[in-house]
Amino acid sequence: MPIIVSKIWTSLFSLGRANAITIFPFILLRSEKLRHDRVLINHERIHLAQALELLIVPFYLFYLLEFGVRLLQYRDFQRAYRNISFEREAFFWEHDLSYLGRRKRWNFRRYLVKKAY
Ligand SMILES: [Zn+2]
Repeated sequence: MPIIVSKIWTSLFSLGRANAITIFPFILLRSEKLRHDRVLINHERIHLAQALELLIVPFYLFYLLEFGVRLLQYRDFQRAYRNISFEREAFFWEHDLSYLGRRKRWNFRRYLVKKAY
C-alpha cells in the first residue's frame, strides 16, 4: 500500500482532524514519523480492505452517508465519526496486527449495530 506523507492533503481530506486518512489505494499521513506507527497503519489498512470489498467508490459514499446518520444520532462530530461501522471495526482491531490475515469479508457489517463508544 503506497504511503504518502503530506500534512496539507491529510488535513484537507480529514477536515484537519486526523493524522492519517485512506484515499484508496493511498494512505496519507500527516508526518513522516507516523510511518512507524504500526497501529495507525493497521487501522488504515483495515479501511483499505473495507474499501476494496465495497469496490471503492460505494465505500466512500456509504462512509459519508453513515457519518451523516451518526451525526443526527449523536449530534457530536467525534462520537459520530467513531461510531461509523467502518471506524468501529478499525478502532476495535487496530492493535491486533494479525487481524487482516484472518478477517472475514464484509466484517464491518457486524459493527453497524455494535455498542456505541
Ligand atoms: Zn479510521
